[in-house]
Order: sequence, then structure tokens, then C-alpha cells
Amino acid sequence: RNMRSSLAIPPLTPDLIQVLIDADSIRRRVDDLARQISRDYADSPQPVILVGVLKGSFIFLADICRRLDIPHVVDFIALSSYGLAGSEQSGNVRMLMDTRENMEGRDVLIVEDILDSGHTLDYLIRNFTARKPRSVKTAVLLDKPDRHVIPVKVDYLGFGIPDVWVVGYGLDYAEKYRTLPYIAEMRPVTA
Ligand code: 5GP
Ligand code: MG
Ligand code: MG
Repeated sequence: RNMRSSLAIPPLTPDLIQVLIDADSIRRRVDDLARQISRDYADSPQPVILVGVLKGSFIFLADICRRLDIPHVVDFIALSSYGLAGSEQSGNVRMLMDTRENMEGRDVLIVEDILDSGHTLDYLIRNFTARKPRSVKTAVLLDKPDRHVIPVKVDYLGFGIPDVWVVGYGLDYAEKYRTLPYIAEMRPVTA
């Protein structure tokens, strides 16, 4: 395999309808967000705690943290929400793995792949706020405004998208497609 083939853009499979956001657009937007975040936290007294919500945010987090020019540490949390086939969101969010950093007095930035109903971010903001941080803010790559059930404040947003299932750039369908370099729309799965 030569360089050219390993750098080629993976083609859409029949499960995927179209590329919604290509890799270049993602890169440019992540650059903008990282610049904004670096500016806003420039006077932070201690390193900012970036909390990636596993697993979907891992690529977004990796790209954003490498573009920051402020002191920061990386942490992770894993959640699960009861629902059907992993795609139906209920309000029942459960913690599978907690963060390790002590958040008291610290600036905390939650890094999430996508805002859908809002239950996940609402849960995280409440849970982290109870730990007496200096601040809690959110950076979210994708937002589906048509799907909101609970209002959630997004401080740094990548892109608004329509109400379709998306994969790639960290996001999966049944653990597939996470490492696609673009965001693609999936063909609806009929039961
Ligand atoms: P919420 O709690 O806001 O309803 O849902 C947030 C979570 O649902 C996201 O973190 C993500 O794991 C999952 N999710 C919602 N929409 C999509 C989507 O279109 N694609 C993927 N892969 N996950 C999604
Ligand atoms: Mg997520
Ligand atoms: Mg998932």
C-alpha cells in the first residue's frame, strides 16, 4: 500500500446516503473553535479540564486539544442511556466511568460529539456543577435543534444538522464508521 491509497478518502458504503460535512470543513471549524476557546480561557488560573464524553467525542477532543494554546488536561467520562438499539435516547442517563480529575475550583469544558435530546449534556452539567468547579462550559461538534427535549446551553458549537442519523469523525452506528474522516448521513435502518 502506498501513501496515496492510505490517504484516500474512504468511499461511502451503501449504508451511507451522503457526506454532510467533509474533512476540510471539520478541520476549519475545529480550528475556529480552538482559537475561540484559547482566547476565552487565556486567564484561567489553572489548566482547563477537558472532559471527553466517550466514545463519540474522542476524535473531536483529540483534534481540538492539539490546537489549544492554553494549559489544559484531558479527562474522560463514560455514560450510557437506557434506550432501544442505542439510537433511541431516553432521559435515563447512567454513569459507567467517572472522571479522575478533582473539579473543585477548576474550569471544566465538556467535549461532546452531538446534542440530540439534551438529556446527556443536561445530566453532565448538573453532575459537574455539584462538584463546585470554577466554571462548566460545553463544546459540541454537532447539534440537532429539531430534536431538543431539554434546553442546554452550548458554548462552542461546530455545526447544526438536520434530524438524521450521522456517523464518522468519532460517531458510530453499532460501533461502525467511527474512523471515517467526514460526517455522513446514514440510511435509516428499517426494523
Ligand atoms: P442526547 O442525550 O442529547 O439525546 O443524545 C446525545 C447522544 O446520543 C450523543 O452523545 C450520541 O452518543 C447519541 N447520538 C444522538 N444522535 C446521534 C447521531 O446522529 N449519530 C450518532 N452516532 N450518535 C448520536
Ligand atoms: Mg456523545
Ligand atoms: Mg453511539
